[in-house]
Amino acid sequence: MRVVLFLRYYFYICIFVLSLILFVYQPKLVLADTQTQSPFDSLGSQLEILFNNYQNAMEQNPIGLLTWEQANEIFPRHAEIEVIDVETGSRFTIQRIYGSLHADAVPSTTIDTQTLQSIVDGKYSWDRRAILIQLDGRYYAASMNSTPHGNGIEGNEYPGHFCIHFIDSKTHGGQAVCPQHQQQIQKAYEQGGQWLSFEEKWDILMISEGDVPS
Ligand SMILES: [Zn+2]
Repeated sequence: MRVVLFLRYYFYICIFVLSLILFVYQPKLVLADTQTQSPFDSLGSQLEILFNNYQNAMEQNPIGLLTWEQANEIFPRHAEIEVIDVETGSRFTIQRIYGSLHADAVPSTTIDTQTLQSIVDGKYSWDRRAILIQLDGRYYAASMNSTPHGNGIEGNEYPGHFCIHFIDSKTHGGQAVCPQHQQQIQKAYEQGGQWLSFEEKWDILMISEGDVPS
């Protein structure tokens, strides 16, 4: 239903933009017409560009990859971001609080903790889970565990923090890259796109064409 509404909205915008183009370039088009070039040639190519953009939005993998170095830069401490669990599609908000080898984060509120609890069937564990994290309108592949450990924040009913890993990030103990986390990051990259709406995919295409870190 949302897609139908969006397409209708998008159709009206296309008509408006094309009308504007035709209005602005009317004198040139009339001139071109006298030189045996129809204004509808231009209309056709405009529609073709719009159609190609639409196809790209539907076919391109909308998920980005980040090395730990890149993630550490664009996901600063105290930043609040949205997470999508790849297994269930559930969304909740988290806050990064620490982390120099990977990100240490907490659910932002009690409601976010409850969402995380429902995702893991009430059993926190060290199992690695594929997740997407949203930063600046883009979605990136990552991996987390859910067992609360160490320091946390007050008021979210989550006694500690959990870890979020990116490509080449390292664990606390042993300071090694964890193969299971890396596997879940790959899973998030390959399967996470199924949870994004058409609007989210379209926005990613518009803001990141050509410059998604990979
Ligand atoms: Zn950690």
